[in-house]
Amino acid sequence: MKALMFVLVCFCALPHLFAQSAVTPATQPAPALTTAMLTNGNGAYVTGHYRNLFKERGHSEAEITAKVEKAFSQLFHGDSASQAVYFPAGANANGALAYVSDVPHHDIRSEGMSYGMMITVQLDKKAEFDAIWNYAMTYMYISDPAHPSEGYFSWSLKRDGSPNEETPAPDGEEYFVMALYFAAGRWGNGQGIYNYQAWADKILTTMRHHPLKSGPTKFGPRNIAAMVNENAKMIRFVPGVERGVFSDPSYHLPAFYELWARWGPSADRAFWAAAADTSRVFFQRATNSRTGLAPDYANFDGTPFVSGRNTRSANFSFDSWRTASNWSVDWAWWQKDKGEQALSDRIQAFFASQGRDTYGCQYTLNGEKLDNRHASGLVATNAVASLAATQALSREYTEALWNSPVPQELVERYYDGLLYIMSLLHCSGRYRIYPPKELSIAPGQMSSTHAAASQATASAAAASPATASLAGGPWHNKQCAVVLTYDDAIDIDLDNVLPELDSAGLKATFYLIGSSPIVKGRVAEWKKAAAEGHELGNHSLFHPCDGSKPGRGFVTPKTDLSKYTVKRAVSEIRANNDLLNSIDGKKTRTFAYPCGDLTIGDTLFYDSLKGDFAGARGVRPGLETADSINLSDIRCYGINGQSADYMIGLVKKAMDTHRLLVFLFHGVGGGHSINVALESHRQLIRFLKEQEARIWIAPMVDVAEYVRAGQPVYR
Ligand SMILES: [Zn+2]
Repeated sequence: MKALMFVLVCFCALPHLFAQSAVTPATQPAPALTTAMLTNGNGAYVTGHYRNLFKERGHSEAEITAKVEKAFSQLFHGDSASQAVYFPAGANANGALAYVSDVPHHDIRSEGMSYGMMITVQLDKKAEFDAIWNYAMTYMYISDPAHPSEGYFSWSLKRDGSPNEETPAPDGEEYFVMALYFAAGRWGNGQGIYNYQAWADKILTTMRHHPLKSGPTKFGPRNIAAMVNENAKMIRFVPGVERGVFSDPSYHLPAFYELWARWGPSADRAFWAAAADTSRVFFQRATNSRTGLAPDYANFDGTPFVSGRNTRSANFSFDSWRTASNWSVDWAWWQKDKGEQALSDRIQAFFASQGRDTYGCQYTLNGEKLDNRHASGLVATNAVASLAATQALSREYTEALWNSPVPQELVERYYDGLLYIMSLLHCSGRYRIYPPKELSIAPGQMSSTHAAASQATASAAAASPATASLAGGPWHNKQCAVVLTYDDAIDIDLDNVLPELDSAGLKATFYLIGSSPIVKGRVAEWKKAAAEGHELGNHSLFHPCDGSKPGRGFVTPKTDLSKYTVKRAVSEIRANNDLLNSIDGKKTRTFAYPCGDLTIGDTLFYDSLKGDFAGARGVRPGLETADSINLSDIRCYGINGQSADYMIGLVKKAMDTHRLLVFLFHGVGGGHSINVALESHRQLIRFLKEQEARIWIAPMVDVAEYVRAGQPVYR
């Protein structure tokens, strides 16, 4: 529903504009930027948890699935005259062709094509995805090096595939790129145009680095440059020199930029990270402080841009509907800016004041109604706003989308229809991040804009899985972290466990009780293990446990923690550090609470020891994100007789949810009353070894220091 027009521009009147740089308009101050360390936030990217707002409202999974499927079947495979926006269009050498049409305007837009790809990748509909992409590459993509729009997609075609214009609109490229990365993640890369990741890399590179090119098109001369403004670090409305001097708030997609900062060509990652930060600031600046409404077009400083060619450009209009959805999805995936929650609350309160079931669809920014239509596309995006909203009111918006039928009227079928189905996916937790399976570009190598180069690198990476890693995972670029810990300094640590770990080349943590005869008796072997990279952790000198707790009959009066003073506990633990230092020469290690007892009386005794350790492992189970880990009580799974399947299942869960998994073992193949079978342990080690490219396996001290570095204040 863009307001770009088919009108030919008289370029003769424009030379004065060329005096200004194409990419750095001098008039607008750039928003403040932070390009600090790339943090992973606290949203679905790290937690793996996507809220299902419909389920929260009491709707069943079966009902929700049926609603999504009905929308897809009607809009993609419904009656071609009265329901569908997706149209099969034959085949070529690359396979089937199909397009998504803006049916009321009788055209095919890069916006709808890229939305179609996003919807089909989210719904795992590869045949439809490939057909749309094939059509876009066959009819929309401009590959002629002499063409000013080389490397971009014509934003509008006639339904016979011929262009209405030969310049692009950046929201199309943005969604093409994101959908292609997700396709690489869901289905893997194919050949040619179906090497999704190589094409995502290439388009993304072009978006930032397209040089200013002037030349003829079928519709007259055009001057086309990059889609971003380097100074302002944000997306432009169009890359045309003359009209690219402002932005469109609804094109700002920080949720996507964060992923490009991790998965995209390495040379541009810092830019996209900064662009994400910029967009969050921009949302605050571009929206009205009372209504939360954003204009269709805005200057780079956020003030409304008044266009001579689009009279509604300074108002909240069709483009603007998407802005609330953009900031809310950003909140859902990243949780980096609480300001986005305030924005959702604000805009939902505004529309409630306009009558929640009757509000209009175009307004001035201060809330004067310009259009009475209660549009289903706006109902849909206002429901997505509930992903960030904090007020009870937000539930009514979710329910309003739930009760809204699949758009079918001609005026609503395309734009409202696509927003409707994307919003159903967002609100049902079905619109997700699918990381590419491999890095296609090694850090520092990307400068080429040629897909062939990316493809060559991609296949090289695929050929050597040992070097392949999951791009952008939160744990040293891997999906999750796994720590193996072995408590109590027993013989089997040296006899059963170390040989198994060493044969796989994996490093672990052994929590040693300083007074154990196994420490003193086999000191050379502990020293060797430490020299090879294993951690000797501190499990106290005498292993005192709280004898006042139920089931603690084994605790002797001499080692009853409840009879300890904090001072004694602290000094014994420090003495054990000195002992361990004499074995391994290390200054930094982690602590494990004997019996998992954190307190003496009401006092958390480790509070006095925080400065002595990188972290402390407790015994309570849990999988945690780097941001949520309490380094004074790191969760773990104690293993006592469980199967390999159980343990491997935990690892898979950690991989799926991008979390830290810590195992706590005592006996392995005997040696302790708490025990795991040797063969089960072996199968776990083998699985971890096989998945080493995707899992960061390290001693606790390394993981604790990594977590500590990413947390603002050591808790
Ligand atoms: Zn113990």
